Amino acid sequence: MKSFIKIIALILYISVSPVLAFADDDDFKKCGEARYLILSGMELYLIDHKDAAADSFEKIISADLVAGKYMSEPQSCPGGGIFSYSHKPARDDWFPKNALICGGKRYILEIKCSIHGGIDSFFDEVEKKKFAMPPSEKADACVSNMKTIKGALELYYMEKHVEASSIDDLLKNGFLKCSLKCYSNGAYELKKLDSGTGSALHDVICSVHGSIEKAK
Ligand SMILES: [Zn+2]
Ligand SMILES: [Zn+2]
Repeated sequence: MKSFIKIIALILYISVSPVLAFADDDDFKKCGEARYLILSGMELYLIDHKDAAADSFEKIISADLVAGKYMSEPQSCPGGGIFSYSHKPARDDWFPKNALICGGKRYILEIKCSIHGGIDSFFDEVEKKKFAMPPSEKADACVSNMKTIKGALELYYMEKHVEASSIDDLLKNGFLKCSLKCYSNGAYELKKLDSGTGSALHDVICSVHGSIEKAK
């Protein structure tokens, strides 16, 4: 059961991964991807170690991620930048990609490169490229987001045995890792159906691309 949840979490993570968004190739991109891998490894580690303490984030990153196989190899900046780490409690209404759940609380983990800056500048660059995608790719990305929301609804029901009430509910309880964006500026909402449980009870709707049931 535990590994099943871990696999689902990994699928959810990969489906919102920005790593493939770059067509060009430079140190900024590779440095950002390296830090994104560290974040992903940290996420998996925390799923397995619910007792991990936030004040040991840096130690976990430097020692346990590779040894415990949460990351295939140590990551560094290809331009020679030095990574530094800091964390702070997350606000309740803010769900960036570098939010982590640890001991039931959400934290924002900053992985800063001395040359390439904070990880949010990498995420901003990725977002910009996604908004410039052709409409068909934006529609595909939107359907993939809606599938991620469906997966989170199912996980929520499996773990809590009650239905999630909203997308916010999924975010606040950590079933959706970060806010999902439709790159055609659509807004997501859940539409409750007459019957079903978990992901089957709700249709997911984008205000631009429509219902996931129709888009499939
Ligand atoms: Zn760097
Ligand atoms: Zn959409």
